[in-house]
Amino acid sequence: MVKVDLDHVYKQYKGNDKYSVTDFNLHIKDQEFIVFVGPSGCGKSTTLRMIAGLEDISKGTLKIGGKVMNDVAPKNRDIAMVFQNYALYPHMTVYDNMAFGLKLRKYSKDDIDKRVQRAAKILGLTEYLKRKPAALSGGQRQRVALGRAIVRDAPIFLMDEPLSNLDAKLRVSMRAEIAKLHQQLKTTTIYVTHDQTEAMTLADRIVIIKDGIQQQVGSPMEVYNNP
Ligand code: ADP
Ligand code: ADP
Repeated sequence: MVKVDLDHVYKQYKGNDKYSVTDFNLHIKDQEFIVFVGPSGCGKSTTLRMIAGLEDISKGTLKIGGKVMNDVAPKNRDIAMVFQNYALYPHMTVYDNMAFGLKLRKYSKDDIDKRVQRAAKILGLTEYLKRKPAALSGGQRQRVALGRAIVRDAPIFLMDEPLSNLDAKLRVSMRAEIAKLHQQLKTTTIYVTHDQTEAMTLADRIVIIKDGIQQQVGSPMEVYNNP
């Protein structure tokens, strides 16, 4: 069971004279798929990075599973993250890219193998495990990035524009794969995009953000029928 609660969360970067995120309030249910939508610079990444612990929270409270997390280090938050630039290690095989975080956390060799093989199967990467990222298509690379995020079974999944570097056709098929992955794993997910269609297809609830302020929160139907 993981719910995520943001209560009156503010972010002011050092040197900036205004808040990048203002009075953000959101109560995310266990297994919910939340999508943040809004133009570039509205505060989507900042909010995601505060949840991950990559940015300090200036004011307010973040709770995960009911526990206050403001001062907990990123590595103790049990969160998996996927970025738009994949951040794969070019010199490592697909297998080693997916295994890397598990090795770092001292999982046993057998356990690592089981987890990587399972993730590869879910994502259709079994036959590519020995390849290096340069020998993969964009979609396959993005699947490796997803694989690296799911091997740990982290209860929370944060995705920051994971499809924005893909061409339009691939974006549509990967979108369907992400939806399927969520149905299978039911990981509580927060997904950032500026693409309304992506938001509509994936979200249980959409949060529309403008200038660091929540404009609307609701199901895709609620949000897009009441502009
Ligand atoms: P995006 O719009 O896709 O989030 P940006 O180009 O706004 O990407 O930001 C890229 C990186 O630069 C991020 O790590 C962000 O935190 C940082 N950044 C954005 N704006 C500023 C700024 N005014 N000063 C310093 N760093 C910034
Ligand atoms: P988005 O993800 O919606 O594109 P960001 O969260 O990256 O927006 O940025 C929100 C605001 O915070 C922007 O005005 C941006 O310039 C500012 N910002 C982001 N990162 C930094 C940073 N490291 N230092 C200063 N300002 C930043």
